[in-house]
Amino acid sequence: MSEGVCWAAPLGGCGGPISGEHVITEALFGKRVRVEGATGPWLGEQTVESSIRKLKANILCRDHNNELGRTADWAALRLQGHLKALREPMKLPGSRILRPPVDRRVSGVNFGRWLCKTHCNFMVVNGMTPDPAYVRYAFHRPLPRHVHFFFPGLLGDNLRFVDGRDPVVNWGHMVVDEDPSFDAFSMSLGGLQTIVSTGKVQRNGQDMIDRLNAMQQLTPLGTFRIVFDWSDEPPVLAGTA
Ligand SMILES: [Zn+2]
Repeated sequence: MSEGVCWAAPLGGCGGPISGEHVITEALFGKRVRVEGATGPWLGEQTVESSIRKLKANILCRDHNNELGRTADWAALRLQGHLKALREPMKLPGSRILRPPVDRRVSGVNFGRWLCKTHCNFMVVNGMTPDPAYVRYAFHRPLPRHVHFFFPGLLGDNLRFVDGRDPVVNWGHMVVDEDPSFDAFSMSLGGLQTIVSTGKVQRNGQDMIDRLNAMQQLTPLGTFRIVFDWSDEPPVLAGTA
């Protein structure tokens, strides 16, 4: 795949011009942005860095881009807001009167669509073709095989939140030499790390847990929870998984 072509074109439904779209949802960052693309531990020490100049590319048509704006981008923005609130619960309205935090909800499916969409953007911008499973998940179409969403930072490790020094979004493409069909990527948003893969991934010898239902943190006002809704996922086509 290359620039100048909508990467969702194989799904049909293209409309409007292909104009310079942001590789990463623009509203997620202000003026300060540092994006890092690393190829991950499976591929050695290579590191690809995307500079802010590379953040716009002709890779999606207007209609496909708009569809993702209403769903995927919206969920990523909402989650980013929740993560900010989780980091600084005493700045929330109501904290001064010691009101306990209410559960924050976000669509896990639409966040998954954002992860897949942003991965596809990075792949195309770097001259590579994303796995069709990720293209189809991004647009909520029936899948040729399962897509797994792992949250490794929440299994025993301390959840590390973004601060002024951290990149807002960090992306890495992972491949395994022994298994050419394995295709995975890592992405972090606001310090929340995810690994998305078409196969099982092990960490420290254990399978990682697929799909996070909730993350929580004890605050002076009580337990603060972010709840992910994974209902309404795109189906996996029978006999192909
Ligand atoms: Zn299109």
